[in-house]
Amino acid sequence: MIEIKNLHVNVEEKEILKGISLEVKPGELHVIMGRNGTGKSTLANVLAGKDKYEVSKGSITYEKRNLLDLSPEERACAGLFLSFQYPVSIPGVNMMYFLKAAVNAVRKSQGNDEMDAVDFLAMIREKLKKVALDESFIHRPVNDGFSGGEKKRNEILQMITLEPRLAILDETDSGLDIDALKIVAQGVNDYRSPDRSFILITHYQRILNYMQPDFVHVLMNGKLVKSGTMELAKELEKKGYSWIEEELAEAG
Ligand code: ADP
Ligand code: MG
Repeated sequence: MIEIKNLHVNVEEKEILKGISLEVKPGELHVIMGRNGTGKSTLANVLAGKDKYEVSKGSITYEKRNLLDLSPEERACAGLFLSFQYPVSIPGVNMMYFLKAAVNAVRKSQGNDEMDAVDFLAMIREKLKKVALDESFIHRPVNDGFSGGEKKRNEILQMITLEPRLAILDETDSGLDIDALKIVAQGVNDYRSPDRSFILITHYQRILNYMQPDFVHVLMNGKLVKSGTMELAKELEKKGYSWIEEELAEAG
């Protein structure tokens, strides 16, 4: 699905990622954990194709294509989804219009007919139910005054509406309440299938109480320094990150 090899990334002349390698196969859920400021969001932003992030070394192959050659729009059409794809508010553009345009851009690129308003509304009603959002939600301007919980629900709504093959969810480190966590976890769980993959980036172990990752990786100083399973996440919850630093120091 996606293979990241020896990825080095600079942000404003400073090297943030220093050789990340990660392979995600179809159906797998990978979790990347790490302290604040270690480069988790930088990795997500590079995958999203945001500017300001300069890849100085390494490669990212997504379904046999060089991901770094694709624009953010092309990435979305190729089945990649990033949770913070549309973080800014767009007053005057409502969610319905926005989501319909996004869905149809993807459908068109895949050679499918565009959805008309009637079909789209029927489809989106079902999806809204899944994230426990009221229909009035899609008549609101994009991200305009959304609460933290609504933003998260919206993110999952976008994911299940766009139906990506690889979803990258950056949980950000700001306090998500337990309901929002559960919605994200439930959304991911419902959406999992043998041909869909996830990279979930999170600062806290607590969301993992609600989902079953295949792999857990620790990002530290721009590198993935340790990989394991759910057991590793539990160990981090109990002991924090410093024991990994000690381990690394001992190993030289
Ligand atoms: P995390 O998500 O793990 O908390 P980030 O990837 O957000 O970490 O940040 C890693 C480092 O890169 C930090 O030192 C941060 O200041 C820097 N950084 C990230 N994005 C930018 C940016 N757009 N401009 C300047 N510095 C950035
Ligand atoms: Mg972050």
